[in-house]
Amino acid sequence: MNGEGSRRFGEERALGLLRDAGKHLGAMREGLVERALTRGTDRLFTCDSPLGEVYVGVSERGVRLLGRAASPEEFARRYRERFGRLLSWGTDESTRALARRVATALAGEKVEVPADLSGTTPFQRRVLEVVKGIPRGEVRSYAWVAREAGSPKASRAVGTVMASNPVPLVIPCHRVIKNDGTTGNYAFGAEEKVGLLEGEGVPVSELAGSPYLATPTTGIFCHATCPNARRIKPENRRRFRSAQAAIEAGYRPCRVCRPAVAG
Ligand SMILES: [Zn+2]
Repeated sequence: MNGEGSRRFGEERALGLLRDAGKHLGAMREGLVERALTRGTDRLFTCDSPLGEVYVGVSERGVRLLGRAASPEEFARRYRERFGRLLSWGTDESTRALARRVATALAGEKVEVPADLSGTTPFQRRVLEVVKGIPRGEVRSYAWVAREAGSPKASRAVGTVMASNPVPLVIPCHRVIKNDGTTGNYAFGAEEKVGLLEGEGVPVSELAGSPYLATPTTGIFCHATCPNARRIKPENRRRFRSAQAAIEAGYRPCRVCRPAVAG
């Protein structure tokens, strides 16, 4: 190779290296842009549920919004309006693991699903956390939730919190019914509520008008769906329309389902 050829070779090599460096820089820059774009982004997935297919928006802390929607775009718009954050499809392993967990829980298995309740008021959060603890197959009244949340006079406000529950099914607001034992309203419709409860084995029509059960053998009364109440033999069942009526008849509240504050 003569001197001229060697110089040209050297220049071409240098140019090639520069081009490679440019590609690397481009790739790095794209990576940075992507990271910057997704910093304010939460994850989205869909899931089968007793209400049909639902969209689920999750943050790093847990499930933040669950609901039906006409399209992923519509759900993402609602999410952005409510929380000021973008949603993108969750394909990473941690989101997929959470999606499996949510699917298992919505299929009725006892699995803990983290809920991200940031953005709710302290009262809303207390109410939602009480409701989260109502077991599958059991129901409680709005008044009971209000009392357990530390605001016994707020049963109407509990109804409002239920109506705007960001994560239905994960926080089972369908298990909160009216004080007289009738099922009442539901964000997805009153009939859907009855269907969900019957799907969990709740004897919906028996509860209407008599949501409490007592037995003279122990002198204790319960919410009618409490496991203790379900063990009462049919011939010993005494039905009551209110906790007050059971107390006046001489019964004491069950310590498990706490239908009234123990005297
Ligand atoms: Zn009980």
